[in-house]
Amino acid sequence: MRHNFGAGPCILPQEVFKQASRAVLDFKDGLSILEISHRTSEFEGVVEETEKLVKELLNVPAGYSVLFLQGGASLQFAMVPMNLLPEGKSASYLETGVWANKAIKEVKFFGKANIVASSKDSNYTFIPKDYSIPEDSAYFHCTSNNTIYGTEMFNLPETKVPVVCDMSSDIMSRVIDVSKYDLIYAGAQKNIGPAGLTIVIVKDEILGKTGRGIPSMLDYKVHIDGGSMYNTPPVFSIYVAMLNLRWLKAKGGVAEIEKENIAKANALYTEIDRNPLFKGTCAIEDRSRMNVCFVMENPELEKPFLKLAEENGIEGIKGHRSVGGFRASMYNALPITSVHALIELMQTFAENHK
Ligand SMILES: *Cc1c(COP(=O)(O)O)cnc(C)c1O
Repeated sequence: MRHNFGAGPCILPQEVFKQASRAVLDFKDGLSILEISHRTSEFEGVVEETEKLVKELLNVPAGYSVLFLQGGASLQFAMVPMNLLPEGKSASYLETGVWANKAIKEVKFFGKANIVASSKDSNYTFIPKDYSIPEDSAYFHCTSNNTIYGTEMFNLPETKVPVVCDMSSDIMSRVIDVSKYDLIYAGAQKNIGPAGLTIVIVKDEILGKTGRGIPSMLDYKVHIDGGSMYNTPPVFSIYVAMLNLRWLKAKGGVAEIEKENIAKANALYTEIDRNPLFKGTCAIEDRSRMNVCFVMENPELEKPFLKLAEENGIEGIKGHRSVGGFRASMYNALPITSVHALIELMQTFAENHK
């Protein structure tokens, strides 16, 4: 039995893998999903259904478009200022980790980034809370879940400026109020589907206000007008995302999966806090449900524990190099039985190292 705690690309439901494999051999009348034209009515149906599922699962209000793009969340770091930041103006950023930092880096090509708060000095172990966002900011950008550090932002600041959020690693894991955001983006490979697809949810009225010329492929409006088919979309990634979102809907949707995610996170954090060998790395109120980061009181025991984990089918728990220790990523498709397997191993290890 393998337990995949990898940070991304990551676990998807087994039945999604099976359905996707079948479609590789025969999607429609003996044709593979890999060889059909994206202009067929069958594939147009896939895009339509995927869009409908995103809207339904996240309760997206009217006035927003859902886009299926490429280039990963990393391209959004540049597309956001390119499409939303007028020349010479500034946008406010909350610096909560490496991904936020990479987003900030791209702003200089279009205007100025104003860092409203940062937890860099503490190696991003918490989410800054007391800061103000200048009212003349073109937008406020935040990262809802800091995949590398294991912090998650459960509350948005009060602000009148448009809110842009990188939701790559916690989208579809908990109920959110989309109307509080003006643009949400996410690389698909952490809770939505395979790599190669990026989802953008954008409030239409915030677009077209920069006065800047934008290359077609980088212009949200072009993709809205083209129904995400301005060029060849990532056909297979969209198809698998559709299968995965169908799976999520059948499970009861985001509110149901949120309950499971809370149960999984509570179980593992409880063990980390209880077990004398381990300790969490983040401020308790900001602990992520998706990526649980922890270290050992005695760092010399980390290697043997990692080895034991690997021997027992626990995959992908080595921490990111900038944090060290361990990171257990527990995306939607990871069953709670996998979390229990990890907890049992931590307990056995503690028994043997008294
Ligand atoms: C993984 C991740 C990214 C990078 O996504 P790509 O699709 O690889 O560009 C950006 N932001 C966050 C929060 C992530 O977890």
